[in-house]
Amino acid sequence: MAQQEKKAASQQPEDKSSTEGRHRRPSYRRGSGPRKPSTKREPQADAAAHSQPAQSPAQETAAASQGKGQRSTGRRTTRTPRQQRKTPVRIISLGGLGEIGKNIYLYECSNDIIIVDCGLAFPDDEMLGVDLVIPDFTYLERNREKIRGIFLTHGHEDHIGSLPYLLKRINVPVYGTQLTLGLLEGKLREHNILGACHLNVVKPKDVVKAGCMSVEFIHVNHSIPDACALAIHTPAGVIVHTGDFKVDYSPIQGEIIDLARFGELGSKGVLVLMGESTNVERPGHTTSERKVGESFESLFNRAEKKRIIIATFASNIHRIQQIISAAVQHKRKVAISGRSMVNATATALELGYLDIPDGTLVDIDTIGRYSDEQMVIITTGSQGEPMSALSRMSMSDHRKVSVTPNDFIIISATPIPGNEKTVSHVVNELMKLGAEVIYERMYEVHSSGHACQDELKLMLGLTRPKFFVPVHGEFKHMKKHAELAMSLGVAPDHIFISDVGKVLETDGVDMKFVGTVPAGQILVDGLGVGDVGSIVLRDRKHLAQDGLIVVVVALDAESGLVVAGPDIISRGFVYVREAETMMNEARKVARDTIEECCGGGMREWTNIKMKLKDELSDYFYSQTKRSPMILPVIQQV
Ligand SMILES: [Zn+2]
Ligand SMILES: [Zn+2]
Repeated sequence: MAQQEKKAASQQPEDKSSTEGRHRRPSYRRGSGPRKPSTKREPQADAAAHSQPAQSPAQETAAASQGKGQRSTGRRTTRTPRQQRKTPVRIISLGGLGEIGKNIYLYECSNDIIIVDCGLAFPDDEMLGVDLVIPDFTYLERNREKIRGIFLTHGHEDHIGSLPYLLKRINVPVYGTQLTLGLLEGKLREHNILGACHLNVVKPKDVVKAGCMSVEFIHVNHSIPDACALAIHTPAGVIVHTGDFKVDYSPIQGEIIDLARFGELGSKGVLVLMGESTNVERPGHTTSERKVGESFESLFNRAEKKRIIIATFASNIHRIQQIISAAVQHKRKVAISGRSMVNATATALELGYLDIPDGTLVDIDTIGRYSDEQMVIITTGSQGEPMSALSRMSMSDHRKVSVTPNDFIIISATPIPGNEKTVSHVVNELMKLGAEVIYERMYEVHSSGHACQDELKLMLGLTRPKFFVPVHGEFKHMKKHAELAMSLGVAPDHIFISDVGKVLETDGVDMKFVGTVPAGQILVDGLGVGDVGSIVLRDRKHLAQDGLIVVVVALDAESGLVVAGPDIISRGFVYVREAETMMNEARKVARDTIEECCGGGMREWTNIKMKLKDELSDYFYSQTKRSPMILPVIQQV
């Protein structure tokens, strides 16, 4: 691996020509000398760069390779290495900017593209019947021969969820840590493509060469084990892509985030920091996951002889470990409920990310053999998802678990924005069943996986990027993160709030927007990918709002006379038994319309259908002020 690292270092021959020695190994430089954060110095350098006459990219490269062109401008001689224009790298997001979810970022340099993450988003209320939302892969399909690999930061759905859909179209190597790929494998198996995929397990500190770039994995803390940030070494400079991270000084498993490496990269010079923005509105520092363990300890004591049911995210292996440890401490058995929870714990156990003493886990089918005080049930549904195990328990609809007043229920997660309503619905229903429910911030039963302001400042301070691009958040989050960076001295014109599909380009000296690529959302409904478009959605909305009327009529093919019907069938429009008069009248309207059409010699079924639609629509609107969808069905006999 050391060799690999050296290879990565040699990716940047420019660095070695430094006259300031700022690229030497920085571990000896800590606190030495008067070096100010580079971000403070950039504005002047940038102004100088702007004062140069505009050059074509070809001229820029020529000037850079000679290393002389810029010297003639005089005042920048000492900083030449930093000012050389290099082969530009383009930064593109196909998802994850201006939204929570479906993160996917591309780095493109010369003839190479690398993809970082490939996540999914969940549909909003407007997207009726849609299961998932995935990114638009058009740009990648058009440039498939350039793609060198997919690099995964961690195993959350918003980072790996749509990878099966991409790999089905473009089969390129995938790199990720053990647990990340373990979770991915389950998905690929479901899609029946596992055998065809090239998965490569990496460890933190590994460097993977990808065309003219190389990707270094850096250990971070997050709400899932095995999460990494990436340092992408490009000919233009180093891009630090934080991925999702927090700084946990007392992690449950593994080490503290590799702060030293971020500092080291910062000392050598980071060109761009792509920083996640999820928790930027929260001041201070995230609570350590270990704190949550302490809360469990006191809650388990408080539960006394009751059965304990805890809902959390299936992927939060550290949380699950803490629950299991507390259960062992209190001599309770643990049962797992919910498909994703069962899958995630099985994968984690198999790969060694969970430590469960023998005899602790029991099958959910056998919980009847134990008394309440002997049991802990870990379940999905912490977001109030309608089909989840906890939600079913709250509706007394769970086949294995019936909630009683002797249940002590802990929801160990904060609702994701937008889920507050469903969560409180579930809490209410559980309380109606007599259970005691602990949720949200009543206790420290949850710690976020995303950096708060102090941690974000630390990341900015360590990496001291020349350019800063806030990512992973809605617009308000990215804006706030930009302000945070400014407060630390990053020049406003070195901060870029981008959007999906926008192309940012930097040559090591300047950074600018240079165009757009196709980007957006593709809706997945069952097995259909992208076949639910705006028209289908509009129809679904229409159906949901006003219901459906089907008119069935059989016509004689020769004479055009009505043989049977018209019959009118209504769904979701009015309750037919209470609207018999109206339905009879509607039938009459339909019959009159058909007779009028056929009497007038109209034989084009399409025209008759149109006419039927119009007449019935007018009639129903006049009676109800509603516009149901009307489907005429004409049979020829
Ligand atoms: Zn994320
Ligand atoms: Zn995450």
